[in-house]
Amino acid sequence: MVTMSHAGHALLERAVRDEKVRARYSAKILTAPGISCAYWCGSLSPKGHGRFWVGNARDEAGVLRDVCVISHRFGWAVAHGIDSLDRVPVLAHICDEPSCQNVEHLTPSSWADNLEDWQRRRSTPRSPLRDTRGPGGRARAIRAALLAGLTLTPILEAGHDELSRDQLELF
Ligand SMILES: [Zn+2]
Repeated sequence: MVTMSHAGHALLERAVRDEKVRARYSAKILTAPGISCAYWCGSLSPKGHGRFWVGNARDEAGVLRDVCVISHRFGWAVAHGIDSLDRVPVLAHICDEPSCQNVEHLTPSSWADNLEDWQRRRSTPRSPLRDTRGPGGRARAIRAALLAGLTLTPILEAGHDELSRDQLELF
């Protein structure tokens, strides 16, 4: 990652190979029957991305700091290796669920392509991108439901008001 210090990157590299860290990562992921997304139920960023603590490392000034990474990027590194992660500037979600950790739902992208996709897919009725709670609100509602053992479908539907649910966009 661009802003990560050398020590931070080395820490991430070790974390990706560490069975215990990988188990800690997997333990924060919950799924629901019939739904292929695998949702992050740990710490979430305002935009709904999972945040995963990988340890402590000293920054350039020598200060010991917590190192957190975006959790689906950690999952990508576990599946495809840290070198692959370093080559991917943006990991886009084909499911449009920012907290999803299913690596099958991730695709390498660029900032420009990701924005273009977002603009195109946002016009799809009932797309997660149209959720009136916003991506962070949606991810938090999903996490709360899964942690409480609630059925997920009504929670996924809740962010779509009647209008957008029934609307077919022609333009
Ligand atoms: Zn997904």
